[in-house]
Formats: sequence, C-alpha cells, structure tokens
Amino acid sequence: MSISERFSTHEVENQVPPLGASNLFVTDRALREAVTREGGGWAEAALVDFGAVAGGEMMELGVAANRHKPALQAYDATGHRVDEIEFHPAYHRLMQLGMQHGVHAFAWRHAETPGAHVARAALMFMHYQADSGTCCPLTMSYAVVPALRHDAGVAAEWLPRLTSFDYDPRSLPAGAKRACTMGMGMTEKQGGSDVRANSTRALRQADGRYELVGHKWFFSAPMSDGWLVLAQAEGGITCFLMPRWRPDGARNAIRIQRLKDKLGDWSNASSEVEFEGAWATRIGEEGRGVATILEMVSLTRLDCMIGSAGLMRQATVQALHHATHRRAFGKRLLEQPLMRNVLADLVLEGEAATALTLRVARAVDARARDPREAALARIATALGKYWVCKRAPVLVNEAQECLGGAGYVEESTLARHYRQAPLNSIWEGCGNIQCLDVLRALAREPETRDAYFAELDAARGLDADLDAERVRLGHVLDDRATLEVRARRIAERMALALQASVLLRGGDAEVAAAFCASRLRGDHGAAFGTLAPDAPIEALLARGAAA
Ligand SMILES: Cc1cc2nc3c(=O)[nH]c(=O)nc-3n(C[C@H](O)[C@H](O)[C@H](O)COP(=O)(O)OP(=O)(O)OC[C@H]3O[C@@H](n4cnc5c(N)ncnc54)[C@H](O)[C@@H]3O)c2cc1C
Repeated sequence: MSISERFSTHEVENQVPPLGASNLFVTDRALREAVTREGGGWAEAALVDFGAVAGGEMMELGVAANRHKPALQAYDATGHRVDEIEFHPAYHRLMQLGMQHGVHAFAWRHAETPGAHVARAALMFMHYQADSGTCCPLTMSYAVVPALRHDAGVAAEWLPRLTSFDYDPRSLPAGAKRACTMGMGMTEKQGGSDVRANSTRALRQADGRYELVGHKWFFSAPMSDGWLVLAQAEGGITCFLMPRWRPDGARNAIRIQRLKDKLGDWSNASSEVEFEGAWATRIGEEGRGVATILEMVSLTRLDCMIGSAGLMRQATVQALHHATHRRAFGKRLLEQPLMRNVLADLVLEGEAATALTLRVARAVDARARDPREAALARIATALGKYWVCKRAPVLVNEAQECLGGAGYVEESTLARHYRQAPLNSIWEGCGNIQCLDVLRALAREPETRDAYFAELDAARGLDADLDAERVRLGHVLDDRATLEVRARRIAERMALALQASVLLRGGDAEVAAAFCASRLRGDHGAAFGTLAPDAPIEALLARGAAA
C-alpha cells in the first residue's frame, strides 16, 4: 500500500464558514440608533427593506461587478465614434436596485419630511458595503440637485428624471429616458484642488448656449446623461450642464480618451475626456462657477464620509465573523484577550464614524430650516470628510489582519475594500484641502465656529476629558501665524471632540466613555488594539456583533 493510499493529505478544518446574507440595517445597532437619534426613524420600513437587499443579492453582485471591469467602446464596428462604456450585468443590477430604493433620491422625494437626508444617508451607508463603485454615479446624481435649481428651466427638465426611482441605462437623449444620472467634471491635468486653474474654454453662442473646448483629467461615470463641468467663460470660471446628447438628437462632442487604470473602485468607470466644441447650458452666473458647483461638492463630500463609515462597518463585521469561528492556540480568536482588544477598538472607531456621519447628515437635512444647523453642516462636513475618510484605510487594513492571510486574498472582499478605502480621502478634495477649508470656514464664517462649539457645549459636564479638550480647543486658533501648518492637527482634534460630543449625548454611555478615554485622554496607542485593560471590551464586542 502506497503512502498516498494510507494517508490523505489533510482534512479541511478550522476554516470559517461564509458570512452569508444578512440585513445590513437590522443587524447594525449603531446605525439603527443613529438614524433614530438624528430624525430618520420614520423611514425604518424602507431601510429594513433595503438592508435585506444590500446584505443579500447586492453582496454577490458587488463581487461580480468588481471582477468584470467596465470597458471603453470608443468606436462602433464601422469606425464611428460612439464613446460608450460596457458594464457587466451585475453593475446594471446594482444601479437598478440602488435607484429603486432611492439611494440617489430618497432625500429629494421626501424633502418635506425632516430627517429625509438622514434616512438617505443610511441607504448610501448600506449600498457602499455591497459595492462602492456604483455609489459614485448615485452620489453625483443626489448631489447635483441643489446646483441645478439655480436654473428653473433646467431644474424643470432634469429633476423629474434625476429623482425618479427607476434606472434607465439606455444611451439616449435625456428627454427620451425614464430616469437619468449625472456626473461632474472639474479636475484637469494641471490641477484638481485648484480648479480656478481650469483651462477648458466656453464660448457663448448666438442662442445663449455655449460650446466648450478643453479636457478633464478625471471624469467618472462617463456613461451619465449629463455632467456639471467648470470652464472659463468671458466672465471667468463658470458652471455648465453638459448633456451626453445634444438637444438636436446628435451625440455631444465629448470624447472619452481612455479609462483610468485605478488601484480600486473597479466597478466604476473613471475616464479622461476631451470636449471638441461640446454643447452646454450655463448654470448660475458667469464667473460664479466655483460657488455654484460647490453646492454639489458639499454633498459629495458628505457621501465620502458616509461611504467610508459604511466600509468601516463592513470590514468590522467581517473581522468579528472570522474571529468568532477561527481557532488558534486552543481558543477561538474572539476569546484571545489581545484580539478582543483589536476588535473592540474597531467597533469603537466605526461607531464613532457612524455617529458623526449621521449627525452631519441631520445638519445637512436641517440647513434650509435652521441657520445654526447650516453653519454646522458647513464646518462638520469638512471635518468629517477629513477624519472619517482618513480612518477608513487604517481600519480596513486592521480588519484584514484579523483574518490573517485570508484577509489578503481576493476571495475575501476585504482585499477589494482595502483598495477602495483610500479613495474617499483623495477625491472631492484631498485631506489637506479639507483641513484648510475648516480654517477658512472658521475665519470667514464665524457662525460655523459658534455652531461647532455649541455642539461641544451641549455635552458639557458629561465627560471631564471632553470638557478639558473644549477649553483647549477654544484657544487652538489663537496663534494665527502657525494656523496653516497646524491645520491637520486642528481638524483631527475638532473631529474627535465632535465625535465624543455626539456619542456622549446620544450614544451608548460605555462606548462614549471608552471613546473619550482613548481618543481624548490619550489612553490609547497609535494602532488599533491599544484600549486600556479597563475599557468596556465585552460591551463593545456585543454592540458590534451583527445582531
Ligand atoms: C478614481 C478617481 C475618480 C475621480 N473622479 C473625478 C470626477 O468624476 N470629476 C472630477 O472633477 N474629479 C475627479 N477626480 C479627481 C479628484 O477630485 C482629484 O484628484 C483631487 O481633487 C485632487 O486633485 P489633483 O489630483 O489634481 O491633485 P493636486 O490638486 O495636485 O493635489 C495634490 C496634493 O496636494 C495637496 N494640496 C493641494 N493644494 C494644497 C495646499 N494649498 N496646501 C497643502 N496641500 C495642498 C492636496 O491635498 C493633495 O494631497 C477623481 C479622482 C480619482 C482618484
């Protein structure tokens, strides 16, 4: 008898069962509590519905849509320029499910009900966990609405299709479609942060419309039905609506040069384009383009924060699941004291990210009704975009490590999430730009400073560390000469204090105390898994568990 007849190579054991389908809303205690706290609880039925879809069918679709990247079809078989993008069917199904549940438009459909943006933030939070790439066109279609309202005619023509809960991927003039999506084009080769350096030219035509000649260096979702773009008109930098098809039924002169070969974000197509006399309508006044498009940008920045918080949640769920089943050195990983510290710390970070994100969504929601909330939205969007997006890659990497080698291979979706995680920090204004924006808001709009400190003051007396940090932050701007060089440190501390205040007032008391001790008092190291021995690790793990 040969040795291979006597022995089998091995039995597969101690491997972790698949995570399986789950309801991303029902199983996420921190999200549910935050939605209720911030005024979106009335939408619970819609969130439960979408939670099941996002945690079920969409999880599978997300894998397929990222395995089969979109491809550019610049020409048709007969050599005519078509500039189309070919997507895998999973991409289309993800878009359909997202739009059917209102990930792009729930807030506008329910604009009269306070909390609509909070509920919509929860939808985006869940969609992002299944697939981040489709969130790009959904975000831009959500965010474009306030800017389009600058022009009543344009709004009347576009908003019904942009806020439709339908998905219509056909490449047709917008007027012939049931539903539309939109993108944005600001970044050029010579500069993305400094959009005033845009070189694309806009020439006014006799009929009042414009033709644009120039390029965009990053132009995501090039299959959208229209884009807001910036270009230099006679009166200065101006915002335009550029449709994919001209009103006369011809393709607009938008040439896709190539698709970006990106680190991650694979289900989403991002392109380089040139405009060869592309037809466009002006939105807002000539010379006011940056201010006009910033209304869109402020909402896309909110979505960066939402997406990163969602990614943190998904990574933590996967790490907890693995640790629950995997054994090493005679115990489940979840029973190993040091691993418990790591996992509890991930839960804590994710919960603080969720709490801050939903608080900012409430400020955005209330900004038209309440000037203080408007001021808070202004500054807290920059703070949250900076801090939550910065924390996501670190957290996702730590969650990967909880899976050991399994976290580094493609069968684990954590490899994909890790590639995705840095993006929200880069696009829609990189980290430095957010921190400088915080300083700009504090200097030029004193109401933002009042609104920010009012949030901290609302938690006065609840935690000695936050009280002490509140006093110190009151002086942080005193040394004006060094402000810019200190901008990151200032933004980080302001974000942490705001997270602490939100958690103390509405979150779980043990979570809030652990957050203040670790993040404000400094009872914590630079890496995750450095909570103090007396931290409420058991309680944190219980809160993080998908139940
Ligand atoms: C996948 C992907 C998709 C994208 N899709 C789009 C899209 O659809 N539409 C679009 O318009 N753009 C898009 N972008 C572009 C993105 O918004 C820009 O890359 C980003 O704004 C930065 O611009 P930049 O690349 O030109 O970098 P730069 O502006 O050159 O900045 C480089 C670095 O310098 C820093 N910096 C700049 N100014 C200062 C300063 N004064 N002080 C200190 N630091 C500073 C920045 O923070 C950054 O870290 C996309 C980017 C990516 C990666």
